[in-house]
Parts: sequence; structure tokens; C-alpha cells
Amino acid sequence: MEELAVILKSKKLKVTPQRLAIYKVLFDTTSHPTAEDIYNALKQLLPTMSLATVYKTLDALKKADLATELNVGDDSSRYDSTIESHPHMVCFICGKVTDLHTNSLCEFKKQIQKETDFEIVSEKVYFYGTCKDCKVQLD
Ligand SMILES: [Zn+2]
Ligand SMILES: [Zn+2]
Repeated sequence: MEELAVILKSKKLKVTPQRLAIYKVLFDTTSHPTAEDIYNALKQLLPTMSLATVYKTLDALKKADLATELNVGDDSSRYDSTIESHPHMVCFICGKVTDLHTNSLCEFKKQIQKETDFEIVSEKVYFYGTCKDCKVQLD
């Protein structure tokens, strides 16, 4: 918690217990939770916190470059505390969003820039399909 408070302060965000708790949930997971997921995870611990506070905090984290918002195609946005651009794999069946750790994307971008002379500044890459766990259940 201590180091997360330092990160928040370094971004000039006021450190409140709620803010810190929300950032910790996001920081500690790779599941790309929605605002509702974070709200539900903290309901017991912080019963007076509203869903609106979660949304407001996520917005502040986003503006401070401490979180990114993912639009994977379902109703509610998901959030990620990993800021560096990375591809995501989205499962059609369970809705799980997984990080893809690869260097191939970098090579692919270089190739595109070389072939088209288009200078890529940013990218959002989502792969849609069936995850390992769901595939087992389908067999
Ligand atoms: Zn799945
Ligand atoms: Zn991610």
C-alpha cells in the first residue's frame, strides 16, 4: 500500500483510503476488472463507497496515466494498470481478458512501417476467440 500511495502522490493525486483501495485492486490483478468488479471486491471493506466513486477514481487514474481503459466490445469498460501497450486476448465464452506477452508485435509494426511508410504512434490489439479453459469444456 505504501508504495502505491507514493505513486499516487507522484501523480499529484490526493491519497484517500478509497482511492488507494481501488488502485490496489487494479494494481494487484491481471483480470482487467470492470468498475462493477472493483466495487464488488471492495464492498465489504468499504461499505460506504459508491459505484460512482469507483468510476470517478478510475477516471482520475486514467488521466494520471496510471490506468488504461479497454473497450473489448461488451457493455462495460475494463481497466488495466499496465500502461505500456500490449495485446489482449478476449474469450467469447467466459469473457476473460488476458494479456499477451509478445515481442512479435514490435517486429510486425516495424514491418508495417517499412512496407507502407506509415508511422505508427499507438495501437490497440485485441484477439477474439476461445480461451484454453473454455476450449476444454467444449471438447
Ligand atoms: Zn473462456
Ligand atoms: Zn492488459
